[in-house]
Amino acid sequence: MDCIFCKIAKKEIPSEILFENDQVIAFDDIRPSAPVHVLVVPKEHIVSIAHLQGNHKEMLAALIYTAKDLATKAGLNGYKLVFNVGREGGQVIDHLHLHLLGGWQKGEKNHLPNPGLDK
Ligand code: AMP
Ligand code: ZN
Repeated sequence: MDCIFCKIAKKEIPSEILFENDQVIAFDDIRPSAPVHVLVVPKEHIVSIAHLQGNHKEMLAALIYTAKDLATKAGLNGYKLVFNVGREGGQVIDHLHLHLLGGWQKGEKNHLPNPGLDK
């Protein structure tokens, strides 16, 4: 399957990996929309939040806890967690991923309704 995030998970494409376990991999977004912009991705190929099934609850929790832990490690006091879902939702890559965005100064404009399409 020609999926860029599957290839990153299998190390067929290089990325700046920040964390990895059996279920998830987290790496820097190649075109950051914020001072800190990390993608947290399940290793299983799931297209989007709209394609979740009942057996994905544990994976979904792992994504969120990974993002929280990476935010803490990066020293972020505030941040955004974003899922783009479908083309109308700004999703460009059809492999589910959670955007962790942060690193702005207090009071700095950080309105990012759509990290994928802001570029
Ligand atoms: P989305 O619009 O939610 O599908 O977001 C896809 C994100 O993947 C965008 O923020 C891209 O900058 C990012 N991206 C695309 N290719 C790569 C890559 N090879 N390594 C890291 N991030 C990537
Ligand atoms: Zn994939």
